[in-house]
Amino acid sequence: MRGPLIAILLSLPTLASCSHSTPGSAESSHITHSSQKSTVPVMESITMSDQVVRSEEEWKQLLTPEQYRVLREKGTEAPYQNEFDEHFEAGTYSCAACGLELFDSETKFNSGCGWPAFYAAQAGDRVELTPDYSLGRTRTEVTCARCGSHLGHIFDDAPQTPTGQRYCINSVSLKFKPAEQNDEE
Ligand code: FE
Repeated sequence: MRGPLIAILLSLPTLASCSHSTPGSAESSHITHSSQKSTVPVMESITMSDQVVRSEEEWKQLLTPEQYRVLREKGTEAPYQNEFDEHFEAGTYSCAACGLELFDSETKFNSGCGWPAFYAAQAGDRVELTPDYSLGRTRTEVTCARCGSHLGHIFDDAPQTPTGQRYCINSVSLKFKPAEQNDEE
């Protein structure tokens, strides 16, 4: 019975404001990795030697214009009409810029906000959380710890999830790999 109940709870849209720019979310800036619970899938940590450093010219060559706008210029894609908002296949989501695995489908939930939402990253140090004071608000930006690319923002407005957190991530910042492919490796 517990499984179906959790599934139902996770499918409920959050009652909080649904956007990349939730007003009044100043409390998000104190989010720390330690707030993630042990039930979350955890992968191997990365080290400083894993860092990917490229010039912006190199990124322009490697990324599509839309990927570059979001990943390297901290853009935001359109809500609802993006690739992974309502995508719930089993698998992993990697950084579209450097390929580092960041999120597992087990932590993805339907926030109703128009962008892919996860309640945890695969390992806390695979993403970096930085206060973002743009647009006259205080939010917490999420970037890839290996290449520094912009992924989205994190909010403390998902009480229906095990962590209470919502990583609101741009689809264009992610690459999806189905679980079957992982099993073959
Ligand atoms: Fe990356």
